[in-house]
Amino acid sequence: MMNRRPLIAGNWKMNGLSTGGLALATGIAAKRKAAPDVPCDLLICPPFTLISDVAKAVAGSGIAVGGQDCHAKVSGAHTGDIAAEMLKDVGCSHVIVGHSERRTDHGETDAIVKAKAGAALAAGLAAVICIGETLAQREAGETFAVNRAQLAGSLPDGATAANVVIAYEPVWAIGTGRVATPDQAQEVHAVIRAALQERLGAAEAGAMRILYGGSMKPDNARELLGLPDVDGGLIGGASLKVEDFWAIASASA
Ligand code: PEP
Repeated sequence: MMNRRPLIAGNWKMNGLSTGGLALATGIAAKRKAAPDVPCDLLICPPFTLISDVAKAVAGSGIAVGGQDCHAKVSGAHTGDIAAEMLKDVGCSHVIVGHSERRTDHGETDAIVKAKAGAALAAGLAAVICIGETLAQREAGETFAVNRAQLAGSLPDGATAANVVIAYEPVWAIGTGRVATPDQAQEVHAVIRAALQERLGAAEAGAMRILYGGSMKPDNARELLGLPDVDGGLIGGASLKVEDFWAIASASA
């Protein structure tokens, strides 16, 4: 097995005003500084309004900052949207694309997600590309096919282990408290890695990180993060509390 360093990523979603958001970021940075040897990379993805301040607050801590979405175009008449280069400009190194809430709330298709991921790479950001089946798809026995199709349709040209992270997030597990069992997570992660191998070759597929997301909490993180093809977590609710997020990071050791 390749030696992939875990990535623990927090997706704050549409949560956080300046005071609380900065306290959260500085709290996580303090934990990281106090325990630099915990062997994982940390990424926090605040709402757009806080990115600049959060990036300044965590500067020097080794914590990476990411956006939760970007537009596929470089600039222009797209009111309310944010370009990948703008994220880079205010201190981001990563951006999440294709989160299931974007796919649902904003009708984002695989083609749109692929274009956004391509824009991220072109701007010098790493893309965290989210895929995952709904409960109905799982119950219909379509889990592997859905994830293979979303991966094939969302992965941009030029993807490498250095500039892309995949997040497997079963939609039925996001924000529900219903977490995938270790067997359910591992088998889908293995399917994703096999698909990556077909597309990118063994070296890139072996080095690319595949995160699990969906109700990851301090009490279930160790088991999930210990699975052979789970290389970290994308964490929503539990990323909003310093102690919980840090407990998950510590569980990756
Ligand atoms: C997410 O938003 O990507 C997520 C996994 O949320 P939660 O951890 O709250 O299920």
